[in-house]
Amino acid sequence: MEAIAEKLTDCQNVYAFEPVYIIAPLGTWRRVPHKKKAYLNAENVAERLRGKREELGVDYLVAFTNLPMRDNKYTDLYAAVSDLDDKVTLFSTYEYLDYMAGERAIERMIANALVFSLTDVPSHSARRTARKDCPSYFNNEHDVRWVTGHLKFCPQCIKEGIDKKSRVALTSIMDAFW
Ligand SMILES: [Zn+2]
Repeated sequence: MEAIAEKLTDCQNVYAFEPVYIIAPLGTWRRVPHKKKAYLNAENVAERLRGKREELGVDYLVAFTNLPMRDNKYTDLYAAVSDLDDKVTLFSTYEYLDYMAGERAIERMIANALVFSLTDVPSHSARRTARKDCPSYFNNEHDVRWVTGHLKFCPQCIKEGIDKKSRVALTSIMDAFW
């Protein structure tokens, strides 16, 4: 994680990344059974992590888990943005890790996930100018290509207003491990 954070910090001049090790409050990773799977409820985790971002003195907090994750609407989520704080994002690599055997797949997944977390534009389906190989694509088919692939902002996301400076920096992050 240190090496990944360093590389992603050095490849552009807007964002600085650092791995943080936090002792999660008791019950944070409590899993709730649903249809034979024990899911982490993203909303419960977000509630438990409330205030952590300020406590750590960071603008964004991004967490990865290998447990299956759900919220009150969707099961088997890859990404969940906290309703309480949209600068806190959780990712679940559950059932993806087996498909991430390629060279630097984990690094690429982390870079793409960070870009999604740092971008204000909402996630979208694929239609017309909204593309699948975009970090904001809502990957409901769970296709690993849109997790570890070489992503870029789609025309719709560019139009919805990612300012140029951020876009250049975020693109460098998505390109960093290619
Ligand atoms: Zn997009």
